[in-house]
Amino acid sequence: MTAKPVHFKRVTLIGIGLIGSSFAHVLRRDQLADHIAINARSQQSLDTATKLGLADSTTLDPAEAVKGSDLVVICTPLGAYETVIQTIAPHLEAGCIVTDVGSVKEMVIETLSPHIPDGVHLVPGHPIAGTEHSGPEAGFPELFQDRWCILTPTPGTNANAVEHIAALWQTAGMKIEIMEAKHHDHVLAITSHLPHLIAYTIVGTATDLADDLKQEVVKYSASGFRDFTRIAASDPIMWRDIFLNNREAVLDILGRFSEDLTALRRAIRHGEGETLSETFTRTRDVRRKIIDAKQDK
Ligand code: NAP
Repeated sequence: MTAKPVHFKRVTLIGIGLIGSSFAHVLRRDQLADHIAINARSQQSLDTATKLGLADSTTLDPAEAVKGSDLVVICTPLGAYETVIQTIAPHLEAGCIVTDVGSVKEMVIETLSPHIPDGVHLVPGHPIAGTEHSGPEAGFPELFQDRWCILTPTPGTNANAVEHIAALWQTAGMKIEIMEAKHHDHVLAITSHLPHLIAYTIVGTATDLADDLKQEVVKYSASGFRDFTRIAASDPIMWRDIFLNNREAVLDILGRFSEDLTALRRAIRHGEGETLSETFTRTRDVRRKIIDAKQDK
């Protein structure tokens, strides 16, 4: 599907890390905004954004940043949302669209909605694209290409605003799915949050091994462990906030996972080779389907 043309007068990005800077690159590349205003926590990140040519203006004050904006994109870790929205809400102008990129969606709606002024439209979103790197220099415009972006509007959300945000992410190369926030959080718990938790656990276990064994883990690191270390190198604050804010869905999926792990453990203990090979054959099919869907190579 070709994206509808979309253009904004002043876009404010709150947070200019991996996702915010990748998005800013797209805004620049496709000339989607007359003015890009950037706010972050540190002057250093703002200076980097300026050096990369991503900002028309920068400020450490989020309230100042959003003034006169017709689009505000919150690109901070989830734990900053409450403070951010409290600070910017009185300065949002009628007609402005507020969207975000956070990895959990029910909590975002609960946190942001009560502060959104009349005439301002909230369109929660989650571009499912990322790397283990953080910060403004980690961003690149192709990050979003051929990935899914999930939007989770509520029944009262302005349909025109949803269309604008959908068109924006399509211009970035993304495919759009509209989903209920609770469902999003369940799907992501299994596809993203649990795998990260497992990676953090495995790498943590290896780190706690006796010193001599630890050195060998690094030296002989086979691709299995190496892949986990890449995932477990993801930003600790971002992932702390995801687990704190998607608690119920993650605990639910974790319960299912523990049961399946126990079943495999039993199969290994009792030498049930057929159970093991059946499980591993089923999982191989999943890999094939992901490649067929062009979500990996
Ligand atoms: P990141 O690289 O760590 O960048 C976070 C940015 O937020 C930094 O610019 C930081 O400023 C800024 N920030 C933090 N607290 C702030 C505050 N109180 N006010 C203003 N700015 C603040 O993070 P990211 O990977 O881009 O992730 C951002 C969001 O995208 C998260 O909500 C995450 O769930 C979501 N997401 C991430 C991925 C991924 O793979 N990384 C994928 C999809 C969605 P300083 O640089 O000055 O500290």
